[in-house]
Amino acid sequence: MPFGYNGKILRVDLSRKEVTVEEPDEYFYRTYGGGACLGAHYLLKEMSPEVDPFGSDSIIVFAGSVVNGVPVPGFARSAIVFKSPLTGAIADSQAAGYFGPELKFAGFDAIIIKGKSKKPAYLWIRDGEAEIRDASGIWGKTTGEAQDMIRTELGDERIIVAGIGQAGENLVRYACVLNNLKHAYGRLGGGAIMGSKNLKAIAVRGHKKINMKDKETVLSIAKHFSTNFMKESPTDSGLRNLGTAKDVIPQNETGQLPTRNFQTGYFEGAEKISGQRMRDTILVRGEACYACSVRCKRVVKATEPYEVDPIYGGPEYETIAMLGSNCGVDDLVAVSKANELCNKYGLDTISTGANIAFAMECYENEIISKKDTGEIDLRFGNADAMVKMVEMIAKREGIGDILAEGVKRAAEKLGKGAEKFALHVKGEEVPAHDPRVQAHVTLGYTLSSIGADHIRAAHDGAFTPGWIPYFAERVKPLGIIEPLELSSIDHRKIRRFRYFQNVFSMQDTLNLCLLAFLPAFYFTLGELVDMVRAITGWETSLWELLKFGERRVAMFRAFNVREGFTKEDDWLPERMFEGILSGPRKGQKVDKDKLREAIDLYYEMVGWNKDGVPTKGKLAELDLFWVAKELDKHDKYKK
Ligand code: SF4
Repeated sequence: MPFGYNGKILRVDLSRKEVTVEEPDEYFYRTYGGGACLGAHYLLKEMSPEVDPFGSDSIIVFAGSVVNGVPVPGFARSAIVFKSPLTGAIADSQAAGYFGPELKFAGFDAIIIKGKSKKPAYLWIRDGEAEIRDASGIWGKTTGEAQDMIRTELGDERIIVAGIGQAGENLVRYACVLNNLKHAYGRLGGGAIMGSKNLKAIAVRGHKKINMKDKETVLSIAKHFSTNFMKESPTDSGLRNLGTAKDVIPQNETGQLPTRNFQTGYFEGAEKISGQRMRDTILVRGEACYACSVRCKRVVKATEPYEVDPIYGGPEYETIAMLGSNCGVDDLVAVSKANELCNKYGLDTISTGANIAFAMECYENEIISKKDTGEIDLRFGNADAMVKMVEMIAKREGIGDILAEGVKRAAEKLGKGAEKFALHVKGEEVPAHDPRVQAHVTLGYTLSSIGADHIRAAHDGAFTPGWIPYFAERVKPLGIIEPLELSSIDHRKIRRFRYFQNVFSMQDTLNLCLLAFLPAFYFTLGELVDMVRAITGWETSLWELLKFGERRVAMFRAFNVREGFTKEDDWLPERMFEGILSGPRKGQKVDKDKLREAIDLYYEMVGWNKDGVPTKGKLAELDLFWVAKELDKHDKYKK
């Protein structure tokens, strides 16, 4: 019996209505770890290139890891991995909450789902058993209604449900999957993949305890965290008190709060949509994910001017910025209502906000008119219009049908110069951190295989001249010993980005919540290694764990290369090369020549050739020579 993981992976073929179990060996687990890395392994091995993401050959993997689910703050995450219907590239979405741990308690480390059910179905997993059940009665329901109906049908209120709403059923390309109604596997359209398979939900209940080699050590580190994080970490008390919404005011004061589709980074209404305002008005309580003492999740309730249902939680920083300031909306209740609707219908709040902001800028530039919007006055700042658009996108009504395709496709369809307002990388909408301000964000958006994603490396802020000793000490084990200017992009910054990228990628493999494990936050890298060692019984090291991260980055890149992505796809939208219009960062922009040089240097640094293809030598070093053979098979090493 292994420690930390179950050694069992569930396979589901919806076309054949077949459920089987496989038991990979320790070599497999020690190479791929879990989460995004484990998922990428199956996508590369079992999905041919150019498979239609909505086709029955498309695979979606729900993956825990060798350590997730132990009762320690920050171990609540799991990942879904799939080919994105939004970008055509590989995708991983992470969510905390309760689904990942419950899957482990039910006896499985991951679920691989392929095929397409003839009729709406849901998957029921309980204590080592699984069955495909009829979901005809819950198709067309919201995530909340579906969760209630499944729990009632199965007679257990404690069942954890990961499911989709109408947006997933309607194949909105950025539909998400929700667990417990408020924890979203948010980005890149995993919900639409489930919708295309007629899979409404996965319900899980387990009673198994995770076997740990040295439980005492694990629990004593967890106890130390819970007793001290509020006192010691300069960031974590803010997280407990205000949630991630604590970032609204600092982002605005430093000129990087996306406003009116990234025209500027300063929003005059920021205080009205801040974490402080939420705490003082509509906050019901903070909530935790499984075993987490941070309790950063928000639950809000309101009656005026919109009724907001607390069962769908409350808005995070990203949601507030994308549906608030980026749409010019300064009404926190409207933003909370839009958040509720996104969770109810199963929409990614980031891409939804980005699509609405895109449409607002098109409207203000007369690319679309009231005739297109159904008489809605879609100007920046119109809160009612923003809320209405969320419904229209989820239901694919009117112009919502075009926006449901994502800004890239929507701009192509609208024409008339709409492309310049479509802010995306590789088709994924830019989230709520301005890449013109912080260089790690510039590099993260440009070079990430999944597209514009803000959690691919630590942002620069904590590591600039004058950095506080608490942060500095925590990153020294990585060889990061000098602070660098916020926006500089030189060889030292690229090296630092690469080091952080491996850390974040390792966390996505082990399914660690970045809010507890960011290298500068509370847990130290040494404590992480101690915990992985104590959970799995492996005599492991930071070096070995970082290899998980490097492996994931290389596999993701290889998947995209096989799909036909090229160096040209590593680029930012044109707006990022134009100056920010106002505020403390007025005039700041990304330098194109410097970015080109940075991309070339990064490729060399990570062992990719000048076209951005991972070399055979690098893949062999990562024990991924089979991936090099796969690229060879598809002629990806030939010019
Ligand atoms: S830090 Fe916040 S998001 Fe992360 S596991 Fe804890 S409560 Fe959940």
